[in-house]
This record gives sequence, structure tokens and C-alpha cells, in this order.
Amino acid sequence: MAKPREKILEIKELKRHFKVDRKNVLKAVDGLTFDIYKGETFGLVGESGCGKSTAGRTIMGLYQATDGEVSFKGASVHAKKSKKQLKEITRSMQMIFQDPYASLNPRMTVKDIIAEGIDIHGLAKTKRERDDRVIELLETVGLNAEHANRYPHEFSGGQRQRIGIARALAVDPDFIVADEPISALDVSIQAQVVNLLKKLQKERGLTYLFIAHDLSMVKHISDRVGVMYLGNMVEISTSNDLYEEPLHPYTQALLSAIPMADPQVERTRERIILEGDVPSPINPPSGCPFRTRCPMAMEICSKAEPQFIEHKKDHWVACHLYGDKR
Ligand code: SF4
Repeated sequence: MAKPREKILEIKELKRHFKVDRKNVLKAVDGLTFDIYKGETFGLVGESGCGKSTAGRTIMGLYQATDGEVSFKGASVHAKKSKKQLKEITRSMQMIFQDPYASLNPRMTVKDIIAEGIDIHGLAKTKRERDDRVIELLETVGLNAEHANRYPHEFSGGQRQRIGIARALAVDPDFIVADEPISALDVSIQAQVVNLLKKLQKERGLTYLFIAHDLSMVKHISDRVGVMYLGNMVEISTSNDLYEEPLHPYTQALLSAIPMADPQVERTRERIILEGDVPSPINPPSGCPFRTRCPMAMEICSKAEPQFIEHKKDHWVACHLYGDKR
């Protein structure tokens, strides 16, 4: 019998709203519910502005939740904590950013950037131990000891992302939020960074939340994928199932936009072009948030918000086409 999957993160009805002015509230994340299992990569996908980065930061505890709950290894991320508990949670959960250049202090050497977490968490007893650890981390991510005393501007984009990964690994985390870690890189470098992340996951048993704006990027790394639209999760499935049988009209449109390797298939396949722009999260549509752009919209779609249902095993969708409201 297969071993039951162990949940490392449980996210329930998570909301993160921002007050814009006296009257308006921007609902960046508006009720996300999903779990992340130990050792898996959960890909979180959606167009820019859909709330996925805000969701990642709120899950990490970098933003307070407006409502809802995130629990990491059974403990609430947002509840009040002792200094010791806070330190442990910030050690266990790390982040890799989209723009490694902007996230690396230009005035610090690579050694000091990587060792920051080691210092904060007191993970090296001597300077020698600290230096050895930094060199080991540089080698782990495909760099070497000679790079330790250089500054971020001396590196290429791909190398800088490797430095960002080494910095995240320095405190030996269990869970990493990778926020568009390859979007700013050349296509030729993207696969190298994805392969490095996969290798590290295997060696260290890491769990990833991998955020991306297009489905082709998460395909090769994710075990499961969640698709977000306007602060809501519209579909969650295993990676294979999502690519083979997307249920939600929005996922279908996103997938139809990915170019195919086979030129014959590429020429004959049907593209779903979405009309209009993503509505403002300050004033989202009534009912289904996707209804203003959905080619399948029905009368019920403006009246009732679709429930997130498990249409088939491990494949969840929020759409009136599935369920009994038709
Ligand atoms: Fe389209 Fe209606 Fe489904 Fe929303 S609920 S995705 S509008 S069919």
C-alpha cells in the first residue's frame, strides 16, 4: 500500500487584502485553500497580478494574513510566537526571488551574503567553520571557492540565481518558496537552474512552492500545479493530469498559448484567445471571477461563485461546468 502523504503546509481560506484608500480594498489573495506535501513541488501559476507572489509571501509569514490560516508542520505561521519559535520558522522556510540581482546586496561579498543566515542562526562556531560552509554551499550550487570574495555585479544572471539558492540553503531549510526564479533568465539558463533545484530537492528532501506566470515553466518541475486567477484558486491537479486534461476554461486557455515543439501540431491546434483584460482586484466581478473573459460563461456564472470541488481524484476545479448547478 502506498505510504500516506505527509502534509508540510496547510493553507485554509487564506486572504490578504490591501487597503488602497478609505473606500477601496485590493483583494490580492481572496480565499486560498490547499495543502503542500513533504518533498513535493507545488507549482503556482497565473498571469501577472493574479496574487500568486502575494500568496507566496503570506504563506511565508512575510505578510500578515487578512484572514484564514497557514500551518507549517502543524504550527500556525501567523500566530504570535516566542523569539525561539520565530527563529525556527524563519530558518525552516526560505525564499528564492525572481530578480537575484535586486535581492543580493551589491555592497556585500558573496561570502557574507551566503553567510548572513548562518550568522543570524548561529550555525557556525568559528570563522573557519563559517568559511568552509560557504565554500561547500558554493560548490553545491555549481560555483566555487574563488567566487566567495567577489561582489554580485561580477556574476551573470544564472550565477546570481545560484548565489540566491546557496543563500537559501545556508540555513538548511525544509521548505522553499521560489518566486519566479527563472523568469528573468535566458531560456538556455532556465533549464540549468530547474535541474539544480530538482537535484537539491532529491538530495535534501526539500519541498518547493514554485511560482511562475506560465504553465510551460512549471511543467518539468512540479508534481502538482495550482492555477490562480484574480486572487482565487481555480484548479489544482497533478501536473500530468492538468496538462492532459485541463478542466477550467482559464487553464485551457493558458495551455493553448504554450507553443508546441512539433511544428505540425503547432500549425493545426486551436488557440483559445482570451478577450479583455484581467478585471481589477479592487472591484472583482460577481459570481465567478473569470466570467468576464470566459468563452463558456452561462447565466449562473454571474450569480453564484462556483465551489472548489474534487471533480475526480486529486483534480479540483472551481467552475459551474462541473458540479450540479448547471
Ligand atoms: Fe466560465 Fe462559468 Fe466556469 Fe466561470 S464558472 S469558468 S464563467 S463556465
